[in-house]
Amino acid sequence: MVLAELGGSISRAIQQMSNATIIDEKALNDCLNEITRALLQSDVQFKLVRDMQTNIKKIVNLDDLAAGHNKRKIIQQAIFNELCKMLDPGKPSFTPKKGKTSVVMFVGLQGSGKTTTCTKYAYYHQKKGWKPALVCADTFRAGAFDQLKQNATKAKIPFYGSYMESDPVKIAVEGVERFKKENCDLIIVDTSGRHKQEVALFEEMRQVAEATKPDLVIFVMDSSIGQAAFDQAQAFKQSVAVGAVIVTKMDGHAKGGGALSAVAATKSPVIFIGTGEHMDEFEVFDVKPFVSRLLGMGDWSGFMDKIHEVVPMDQQPELLQKLSEGNFTLRIMYEQFQNLLKMGPIGQVFSMLPGFSSELMPKGREKESQAKIKRYMTMMDSMTNEELDSSNPKLMNESRIMRIARGSGRSVRDVMEMLEEYKRLAKIWSKMKGLKIPKKGEMSALSRNMNA
Ligand code: GDP
Repeated sequence: MVLAELGGSISRAIQQMSNATIIDEKALNDCLNEITRALLQSDVQFKLVRDMQTNIKKIVNLDDLAAGHNKRKIIQQAIFNELCKMLDPGKPSFTPKKGKTSVVMFVGLQGSGKTTTCTKYAYYHQKKGWKPALVCADTFRAGAFDQLKQNATKAKIPFYGSYMESDPVKIAVEGVERFKKENCDLIIVDTSGRHKQEVALFEEMRQVAEATKPDLVIFVMDSSIGQAAFDQAQAFKQSVAVGAVIVTKMDGHAKGGGALSAVAATKSPVIFIGTGEHMDEFEVFDVKPFVSRLLGMGDWSGFMDKIHEVVPMDQQPELLQKLSEGNFTLRIMYEQFQNLLKMGPIGQVFSMLPGFSSELMPKGREKESQAKIKRYMTMMDSMTNEELDSSNPKLMNESRIMRIARGSGRSVRDVMEMLEEYKRLAKIWSKMKGLKIPKKGEMSALSRNMNA
């Protein structure tokens, strides 16, 4: 089960349970069993899933549910917290400091995307003002040095390696020494991966680590390895002091559950994810926005950052002010659509928006969704100012709907559909009411509030 489907299955299970007239132990168990099945199908390790189920049962109080509290919210929050707990080992990884030399060693199986990820990591930091350098200590795979050299040259990052030398420890030490002298502040050592876990691989890794004394060892894992993730990650952790995980190929049909398992196995956080073959297809990984997105709760912090990026500065305060007043009018929806159509890869932006991700913008159907939004906007073009600025649902009577349909050349059904969409979004966005309007960089408080 791929990640997007996992989120959908969990949300459906919660919805089904909250629709039940009586929430008794059986209804809760059915819901949890459904969630367990979805997690297992996504390759989350069995023990983790079982622990999660036990914890949720401990937290969720059936009496609270029976007393008519918002059941969906209670269960969703418990699942949200448990998934976050799974992905958050509770301690941050070592973060290199600009201007102070750090050595970061990359380990992982061959084909996991290790060499590509080394360059992405270097490139990411270079763009932020670091002085990175790459050392190829992979003497096992023919062509490894050429690959690193090619990537490094493209990104204009200094590199070190050898076609002749077969001792990875020697190369690693020489490379690290050289770049220390050149005052590079982020020295990245790529090690060999081999095909499978072998004693020789782990011994070599251990020796390179001993000789270069890395400040951080990053374990690179292919997101599609499935149930093997836990054991693989644990085997690496037992040989070297893995301090962080990077999960690659999250753009494919990955069963992302392996990532959850790797965190548990290494007790180290996922710090980045790879989302494509290109150098900049690399994202910082944050637990809460990730889980929010997974459960279809929307990623408010990512969305607000996008607003800051795309909506012209002079229009931002007004828009945010309107949203914080909880007055989500059709005009605001129209302006949102306009902004969204302007924003980068639209699918990515949509997936961040609360309420937009699953219903309005199903994955893989971005083109269709874009057309739908344009259609909605055409209909809104036929509305009067009064209609656009009102948040009174009763205003839109039959004759107004017919006039809008005629004016925009669409059917009454289309107009009704657009208004339904408006009502759905208005309900979700009403949560913005009363919130402090954050400035750029002040997103965490807001996202905490929204996810609560
Ligand atoms: P290594 O053997 O672990 O060093 O793996 P490589 O860096 O050579 O990568 C193996 C393959 O995976 C290459 O074809 C990469 O382009 C590809 N790859 C690496 N990261 C990603 C990713 O995030 N997404 C996708 N789609 N492909 C990736």
